[in-house]
Amino acid sequence: MKVTLAIHGGAGNILKKNMAPERIAAYEKALAETLHAAYDLLKRGGSALDAVEQAVCLLEDCPLFNAGRGAVLNALGEHEMDASMMDGKSGAAGAVTMVQQIKNPISLARAVMEKTPHVFIGGQGAEDFARSIGMPLMDKTYFHDEYRYRQWEKLRHTTTVSLDHNVSGNEKKFGTVGAVAFDAQGNLAAATSTGGMMNKMKGRIGDSPLIGVATYANNESCAISCTGHGEIFIKQVVAYDIHCLMQYKGMSLREACNFVVNQKLVQVKGEGGLIAIDKNGEVEIVFNTPGMFRAMKTAAKEAVAIFR
Ligand code: ASP
Repeated sequence: MKVTLAIHGGAGNILKKNMAPERIAAYEKALAETLHAAYDLLKRGGSALDAVEQAVCLLEDCPLFNAGRGAVLNALGEHEMDASMMDGKSGAAGAVTMVQQIKNPISLARAVMEKTPHVFIGGQGAEDFARSIGMPLMDKTYFHDEYRYRQWEKLRHTTTVSLDHNVSGNEKKFGTVGAVAFDAQGNLAAATSTGGMMNKMKGRIGDSPLIGVATYANNESCAISCTGHGEIFIKQVVAYDIHCLMQYKGMSLREACNFVVNQKLVQVKGEGGLIAIDKNGEVEIVFNTPGMFRAMKTAAKEAVAIFR
């Protein structure tokens, strides 16, 4: 029984020389622990949907990543988080945007998918829905992270919108998290969660909660989760584009991912990357930035990496 999992914790100008060894070790540990937990779930016969939800919840709970606890701050110094999920088997999808008190936005996205007739719910309505199904709402202080706060302080009186937490110099980083999985039944699923961009306008919505942009899954082609400059990813409809190149043009997953990330996105200066799995459980991780927090596991191979 073949099962496959890939996860990411964002892409960007992530360079070894700029990262303390302890910080590198902390990221690698968080990625490896998440990978093992969700892969074990798949091994025990768990569904691709359960695996991507679990992986993303663990990354949301880890303050190192820009999602859930540790999410970046908007221009008003608040958290506004986005998440989305898609089931490759049924084509069902769910997403939330601009939530401020949800511990695990990805679980709320799943609840939108499974418990409402809708796909995408935002802001107060999403939080009211969470309350109505008994999902705990956290005090806003739960999401506070000193590191993020100090980064925001550097930007707060500027118009600079920074792609995630690394605001020094021209260093850019995208710390969104995501997961894609292929389960023992041959089903695919994808999930993405983010705090968005540092110092973003209140109400700004990026690509991460958009089905077909940062998240897409279809058992006939692939499962995708993206990270990168949201505005450009939206205009390029990245995840669905990869599906279409496979479905209508007959490209392999590798060809489609390379074409979109290393040609189309590069042409429009769309920095970022993605993780993907095709209907046979083959994994691709492609990014056009110097680094990407990433990990993957199949029966034959396991890898955890940050730099190119
Ligand atoms: N794509 C996210 C956004 O624009 C940022 C990221 O990937 O880190 O909101």
